[in-house]
Amino acid sequence: MNLQALADLSSQWPDLRLLTEPGDLEHYGRDWTRRWTPSPLAIALPASIDEVQGIMRWANQHKVAIVPSGGRTGLSGGAVAANGELVLSLARMNRVLGFDAVDRTLTVQPGIALEAVHTAAREHGLIYPVDFAARGSCSIGGNIATNAGGIRVIRYGNTREWIAGLKVVAGNGELLDLNRGLIKNSSGYDLRQLMIGSEGTLGIVVEATLRLTDPPPASQVMLLALPDMDALMQVFALFRERLSLQAFEFFTDVALKHVLAHGAQRAIDGDYPYYVVTEFDTVDERAQETALATFEQGVEQGLIADGVMAQSDAQAAALWRLREGITESLAAHKPYKNDISVRIGAVQGFLQEIQALLTREYPHMEVVWFGHIGDGNLHINVLKPGTLSDAEFIAQCEHVTKLLAETLQRHAGSISAEHGIGLVKRAYLESTRSTAEIALMRGVKAVFDPNGILNPGKLFA
Ligand SMILES: Cc1cc2nc3c(=O)[nH]c(=O)nc-3n(C[C@H](O)[C@H](O)[C@H](O)COP(=O)(O)OP(=O)(O)OC[C@H]3O[C@@H](n4cnc5c(N)ncnc54)[C@H](O)[C@@H]3O)c2cc1C
Repeated sequence: MNLQALADLSSQWPDLRLLTEPGDLEHYGRDWTRRWTPSPLAIALPASIDEVQGIMRWANQHKVAIVPSGGRTGLSGGAVAANGELVLSLARMNRVLGFDAVDRTLTVQPGIALEAVHTAAREHGLIYPVDFAARGSCSIGGNIATNAGGIRVIRYGNTREWIAGLKVVAGNGELLDLNRGLIKNSSGYDLRQLMIGSEGTLGIVVEATLRLTDPPPASQVMLLALPDMDALMQVFALFRERLSLQAFEFFTDVALKHVLAHGAQRAIDGDYPYYVVTEFDTVDERAQETALATFEQGVEQGLIADGVMAQSDAQAAALWRLREGITESLAAHKPYKNDISVRIGAVQGFLQEIQALLTREYPHMEVVWFGHIGDGNLHINVLKPGTLSDAEFIAQCEHVTKLLAETLQRHAGSISAEHGIGLVKRAYLESTRSTAEIALMRGVKAVFDPNGILNPGKLFA
């Protein structure tokens, strides 16, 4: 039946690129999670908004589920197609469409890589400030659909802050032109914001107008070694009070071990349990002196055991690699990932509670902690021991995630800080959203996607 439908799509849109080779189905049918076996019907690679609308109308007619797909760097299974869906990849719609110097906006197609957006913004003397390690392969469309965060949220906020306008093809195939780059637009519900973070369940982002901003002043990067977990948020408070922070990221000795084994360079001798990479403005010599004095104060108070300040761009990049290389260094270990958040003010108490929980529940597994701790966001990666099958490993981790979700609920946190719910966390949505909220979310989904065509099974079970 679906093969017949596919033939129909092909005849309606003879120029549409459609892939059905097994290698392509596997490649486009999954994201960075490796839990599901890809099994899409086919891959469609439209080159225009018209083609995207045509695909959506066809999908409604034939009741074929659609999985929107960007760079497939997602960590929650949002772009996984394991049930005969049509993958709608935006990879060919990857151009810069225009720059507006007065509005300071860049209009792009959704398949453009985040790094290409950075480059295009810099060509105009500006920056697009959302940034993280997957920049070379993730797409702006995927960033918008997940409301991506990253390493500069502490200064600039999430993707949500930087979207001035969106063109979206809704579930019924209708094209919506949302907010059109306006700064002031107090005319009712902001559907643009509703689309951001909707994980491809409400519409397909086909064009985005991004706000750009001035580059930050000169900055410096420091790596700090901390003696214990209690010091972490105290150092954060000290640095945030004295310096103008661009980033404040943490990782543990276990994370360091993996990233060093993956080719990063050791920057501090000796072994310490916790590390921080921080970047802050150093507009002049006085600011540099303040940074050093702040560091020394941390040392005197026993909060910092050791540290190093980058003396060149190359050294700064090497320090950043210690933090940014972690996700990639763990990939071969098939990690089970939690991506959780609490208010910054709640981090200290929360960390102690979950440290006790994880030590108790994972006595024989390697647990790697790192994350955007200055935003209250922690990534917990549990590595699969060779002795367990994939299914046994996942079952054990799911048991612990239930306990973690209960702890998060008590601390009013979120089960998904920045990666999205997707397939991975849909069983835990209720730990973060009330029953009333979820009912409204389902209602919104039904309005935008009445036939349930868009990314079914993601976000909600
Ligand atoms: C090494 C590494 C580091 C990472 N670091 C971070 C980090 O610091 N912060 C962070 O937030 N994330 C991080 N991620 C996760 C990931 O890169 C982000 O979630 C990213 O935004 C996904 O973009 P993508 O194009 O790869 O999306 P995909 O994985 O292709 O898709 C993600 C979701 O978006 C939907 N989607 C994709 N394109 C569209 C579209 N055009 N319209 C509608 N829906 C669409 C998909 O259906 C899916 O639900 C990291 C990933 C890796 C591998």
